[in-house]
Order: sequence, then structure tokens, then C-alpha cells
Amino acid sequence: MHRSLRLSVERQALIANWRWLQDRAGVPAGAAIKANGYGLGAHEAMTALARAGCRDFFVSTYAEAEELGPLAEGLSLAVLHGPQPADHAVALASVARPVLNSVEQVARWREIAPGRACDVMVDTGMNRLGLRVGETGALAGLTIDTLHSHLACADEDSPVNLRQLEAFSDLATAISAKRYSLANSAGICLGRDFSFDLVRPGLALYGGIPRSEAGGQIVQVARVEAQVVQRRTIRAGESCGYGCTFTAETDTQAAIINVGYADGYLRGFSSRGEALAGERKLPVLGRVSMDLTAVGCDSAPELKEGDWVELNYDLLSAAAASGLSQYELLTSLGSRFERRWTN
Ligand SMILES: *Cc1c(COP(=O)(O)O)cnc(C)c1O
Repeated sequence: MHRSLRLSVERQALIANWRWLQDRAGVPAGAAIKANGYGLGAHEAMTALARAGCRDFFVSTYAEAEELGPLAEGLSLAVLHGPQPADHAVALASVARPVLNSVEQVARWREIAPGRACDVMVDTGMNRLGLRVGETGALAGLTIDTLHSHLACADEDSPVNLRQLEAFSDLATAISAKRYSLANSAGICLGRDFSFDLVRPGLALYGGIPRSEAGGQIVQVARVEAQVVQRRTIRAGESCGYGCTFTAETDTQAAIINVGYADGYLRGFSSRGEALAGERKLPVLGRVSMDLTAVGCDSAPELKEGDWVELNYDLLSAAAASGLSQYELLTSLGSRFERRWTN
């Protein structure tokens, strides 16, 4: 079947980003591959990174763990949400470790899997998932592989970062575990004090720049291409698209391309995004529709029906243009894209 949208993912770029993060951290780097590898393909990402030497992988749910299929020898997988009661049968049959997030999850795990290793998340200031520091007495006697906490503001220069670091250092002294892990992508950029034994990058693996320290180091991994459905002239004084928000001052050539908000090219790109025909920039004209977007192509006289154009999906500049986060840009890309992994 012909798919008219392409999402190309470059393995070597993914691996180069992982290596940079691991070098920067100075300890082993795992990989968050939740949400289908941030939208790019969890199984492909895991396979590529495992070949490069990555050993620790993180998904959010047991459904995601199951979708990955059997785990290759020597790899470790942890499930960040831990087991809900409805997951117990799957959790017991799975080689994945749960990340236990509450006193209740700890009690249930002791009951259904006595003595079996698990990970634990302790909350040090984010108030999302994790036992409170005052509840960690409930961990006595548990076989903990990795004790985690998660940074709330690592992408900013916030005093919260040091407070969480101090709280986690105290926990690492008090609670016995094989390994300790605190840093996500942005946390790795904060410095090696945050590394402990294992880091858990996600965004930066896939080309996101979480902080300025990663600028010029982390490379683009995913490229988005769409096809021209029609080329037309918008005459001076005419408008295009819903709401007629763009009006041509002079005769303007437009290429109508087959991507829209149903594909995750959201309306924040209206009049702000751009496509690329080689080096030439083609600005989005007016509103993004569900399945179509108009781009100005006066600079590309050869562009015609069926031709491919790349969308500018450099995550930092696309985030600035659209008002979306780099995370949203990756994870919202829809099912009409053919995901093509290249070397
Ligand atoms: C998603 C997630 C990560 C990865 O975070 P990035 O900001 O994408 O690097 C790490 N740890 C936990 C607990 C997460 O939920």
C-alpha cells in the first residue's frame, strides 16, 4: 500500500545521542521507550540501542511491555506505572520489573511475588508518582533492583533541582538497593552529581534539546515528509484555508500538502510552520486543516503534484514556532505516517 506520509528515523543519530548522554553522565544510560518510543517505534528503538550497548529500558505500562514481545538476553525492562490489580497476571508472567509507586503497590507486590525483585519510585518533590519520603519504612526487606526518583524542573535552573538531589542522596544512604537513578535527559545536562548509577534519558535520545548544554550535541533523529496533492495560484486579494486567515498581497504560488492536525501537525503551525524543498523554505499559509496544509512555493517553481517536501521538524525551532513542547511534537505524530528506520 502506498502511504503518502513518511516519518524517517535515523538509527545512527539515535545511537549517537545515546552515546553522548552516556558519556556526559559517566554512568550507564538506559532508555525511556514509553509511548511507542516517543512516537517513533519502541521495538526498533530498543533493538538499535541494545546493539549499541544499552541495557535498561523503560515503558509506562504492562501493555507496552507486552507489545515489545520477548526480551533479548541481557536486557532489562521496567514498567514505570507499576502493576494495577488488573495487571497482576501479566506482571507475574513478564520478565519486566515493576516500578512500585505507592505503599499499596508495595504491599500487593509482596503478596503476589514474595522475594521477587522490583524497582521503586520515591517522590522527592514532584508529587506525581512515588512513595513519599516518610513512607519508605514500607520498603524494609524488599528486594529492590533500582531505586528511582524523578526531577520536576530539570529543564530549568530551579532551586528545586538541588533540593531533589539532596533528598535523593539521603534516600540512597538510607534505603538498600542495587542501583540508584534520578536523571532524565535534562537531569543528565545538570551535571554528574545527578547521575548516581543509572540515567533514564528519553527526549534527547530522539533529538530533543532539553537544555542549552545539549545544543549542538544532540542531533535530529526524526524527519517528517509529506506529499504535494495540488499546486495552485492564490491571486492577489484572495484568501486560502479555513477562516481565510491568509490573504495574498500579490499572486502567490501554493502547494497543498497532505498533512494536517489529524496527523499531529497541529494548528499551532498555522501561518507559523514551514516546509522545506531542499534548502528553500516554504511558509505555511493560513490555517492547518485536518488532512491538508497550504505552503507558499514561489521559491520552488518545479514543485508539482506527487513531489515530497520535508516539514521543518527540527524539534527546538518547531516547538518555538508551534507553541508545542518537543515531547508533544514527537508523540502526536499519527498512524498515517510510514515509519521508516534507516541507518
Ligand atoms: C519519561 C521519563 C523519563 C525520560 O524523561 P525525558 O525527559 O524524556 O528524558 C525518565 N524517567 C521517568 C520516570 C519518566 O517518566
